[in-house]
Formats: sequence, structure tokens, C-alpha cells
Amino acid sequence: MSTFQAPKGTYDLTPPRSATFLAVREAISAPLRDSGYGYIETPGFENVELFARGVGESTDIVTKEMYTLTTKGGDQLALRPEGTASVLRAALEGNLHKAGNLPVKLWYSGSYYRYERPQAGRYRHFSQVGAEAIGTEDPVLDAELIILADQAYRSLGLREFRILLNSLGDKECRPAYREALQSFLRDLDLDEETRRRIEINPLRVLDDKRAEVQKQLAGAPKLRDHLCDPCKAYHEEVRALLTAAGVAFEDDEKLVRGLDYYTRTTFEFVHDGLGSQSAVGGGGRYDGLSEMIGGPELPSVGWALGVDRTVLALEAEGVELDLPATTSVYAVPLGEEARRVLFGVVTELRRAGIAADFAFGGRGLKGAMKSANRSGARYTLVAGERDLAEGVVQLKDMESGEQTAVPLAEAAAELAKR
Ligand code: ATP
Ligand code: MG
Repeated sequence: MSTFQAPKGTYDLTPPRSATFLAVREAISAPLRDSGYGYIETPGFENVELFARGVGESTDIVTKEMYTLTTKGGDQLALRPEGTASVLRAALEGNLHKAGNLPVKLWYSGSYYRYERPQAGRYRHFSQVGAEAIGTEDPVLDAELIILADQAYRSLGLREFRILLNSLGDKECRPAYREALQSFLRDLDLDEETRRRIEINPLRVLDDKRAEVQKQLAGAPKLRDHLCDPCKAYHEEVRALLTAAGVAFEDDEKLVRGLDYYTRTTFEFVHDGLGSQSAVGGGGRYDGLSEMIGGPELPSVGWALGVDRTVLALEAEGVELDLPATTSVYAVPLGEEARRVLFGVVTELRRAGIAADFAFGGRGLKGAMKSANRSGARYTLVAGERDLAEGVVQLKDMESGEQTAVPLAEAAAELAKR
């Protein structure tokens, strides 16, 4: 194995592609920041118990995909596979739900870890931006989050995504549905593991990706026919709010998602250009999660959008983000004295808030101008001995090609003006 090889299922973000990642994180979080969501950051690992209880003992995430470790002190930890359980844990620990008005609205951005079979769009280390609105049951809140995710994707220029929507019912109506589904599933021709799943979490069988399983599920009882009146009314309200906002969605009664804690509203964003790793984001309501991890009743809703897959979706749609050049001015010194003098000008520019870079290493004019071009800078400053003797620098507009001699003392002010 080469020393210069990232671990399996991981990859590095390097320039220039890394700039797209930053821009995607920024674009996804911008609508949240403008809508009253405050930033939260939690540790990259938690006590394993939090995820076992909060994500669900029967989920693939906990049974197969979690990176767990025992510390030298004997603590059982897990690298976080998702954000919601950690954010809720932190909100409870910090008593954020007691500090003021509910809901507590939070957003986050970070790395997540799942031991998965690596493939395009599926990694062992990946990146999400997420949002959680804790402590309030209000269909407007569910709608708000879906609308903000839609706004984020659209602001990036994505068009070929779809929103899938479903309701999973609540503790009133889901138990009866669960039983009806279980008795239907027990009669099917399924493997041992799936039969076990029927007993622990039968809804997740509906999410089975295998065609031979899906075929048998054709006549499965539908959750929609089992929703209680309050769940039905709640769901209709969310749908009406989305329609009023002009956000298109598809009702998908098979949408159950891989985590145990969801109740009522569930949704997923899928992109049709991504092949089988088509989910670019997902979320829903998790009214029971707080109690599952030992907290008070705090009905909540949230989502997490995958940054890696969003970048792949942009590439699939051929969307080029309009990223402004990071450098505005590039300085090219010719000779020792010019090096000192121009570096002084660059420092002055930077302090004035003008992005500036410098040809390091005493390279010749030709190579340095190549770097200037590559930097995307609009202007270059070139100075040699003769210029310095005359007290000027050559200011070149890289767009028009026009070059003018500017008094050295006025160079920074002139650039600031332009
Ligand atoms: P999938 O069905 O593709 O496994 P998921 O339901 O496990 O997705 P969530 O837990 O809802 O995904 O996470 C939200 C988003 O995070 C997903 O929609 C996806 O964009 C991203 N994501 C999840 N797992 C990975 C991964 N292993 N690699 C890259 N992105 C991921
Ligand atoms: Mg998954």
C-alpha cells in the first residue's frame, strides 16, 4: 500500500474542487442562517449508547455502519454516523429548550462516518449540512424546512431533483399499521435477516432496495390507509403549505428512511443524475427521539443534505458555480529590491481587504505571469529595477491588456479605487 493513499472509502478535498464544496456548504446554510437557525457544532464522536438508542438498534447505520472504539480509559465511543442525535443531545445538555421560545432552530455542517461499501456517491467519510427545529409540533415548521432545502438546491442552480414526501403516522396510529404490515410480510418468501427485520422494524422492509423483494411488496398494506385523523390533517396541511409555496413534491407512500426515530412527515430529495446513490438529502419529523434518549417530550423536525452528493449532482447537471477568483491582484517582482518593495504593497493591499498574491521564489517574468494568469487575478503589478528607479510600478489590467505606470506610493490606493 502506498503511503500517499487516503483510507478506503475516503477522498481528499483539494483545490480547485474544494472551492465548490465550500460554496455548496455556504449555499445550503445561507437560507437557514436567514431564517433564524443558529449554528451548532458537536464533537465528531459520542458515547455509542446515544446512537444505539437515538438512531435505532435495528438500523443498518447502527448494526453495520458505525465506527465504534473503546478508549484507553474504557469508554465506548462511536464516530458520529449522523447529526440529529448529537444535536438533540447537545440541546438537552445545554438546556436550550428551556432558554427561550420554542422551537430551538439549529444548523450544522460537518463530517460523518459510516462503514459502508464504497462506491460512487457512497463514502466512509462524508459531509452533511443539517438543520433541526426542536420542541414544536407545527406543520408550518415541516414546510419551512422543506422549502429552505428546495431554495438551497435552486440557489445552486440544481433543477433535476425531486422531493418525495410521506407521513409515517404517530404513536396513535402506527402500532396498528405495524401489525397489519407484519402479518402481510410474514407470508412472503424472504431471507432470514429480512424475517428478523419484520419483527424488529417492519417498516424498514418497505425500504428494501432488491427488485425481488420490491415485487412481493406490491400488495402491502398502505400506511396512508391507517393514518389517524390528526396525522392525516397534519400531513394535508404540510402538503397544502408546500403547494402554496410553489414547491413541487411527489407523494411516496413507500418512503420510510433508514432511521428509527421518524414520525409523521418524512421526505427525501433525490437527484435523477446520480444512479443508485440518488438521495441528495433527507429528513423528517422525530417527535419521539427526545424521549428515546431520556429527555422530555420535544416534538422536532429536521433534515440533512449530503454535500458530496450535491456536488456530484451539480456535475451531473453540468452546473458550473460562478465562483469569483480568490485573488484580485498578483504581484510580480523582478529582482531583489522589487521583491521587498512589492511584498510591501501586497501587505498593504491585504490589510485594505484586497485579495492579493505574490510570485514567490524569484522566478522569471514568463513563469510568474503564467502564475498570475492561473490565479485569476484581474490586475498584476510588475516592477523591475528601472521601474523602481523611476518610483513606479507597472499596473496591468489582465482583462483589457492595458498597462500603465503608477507611482509606487499610489499603487494600493489606485487598486482600491478600481
Ligand atoms: P442512502 O439511502 O443513500 O444510504 P441514507 O438514508 O443513509 O442514504 P441519510 O442518513 O438520510 O442517508 O443522510 C442524509 C444524506 O447524507 C443522504 O441523502 C446523502 O446525500 C448523504 N449520505 C448518507 N450516507 C452517505 C455516504 N455514505 N456517502 C456520501 N453521502 C452520504
Ligand atoms: Mg445509508
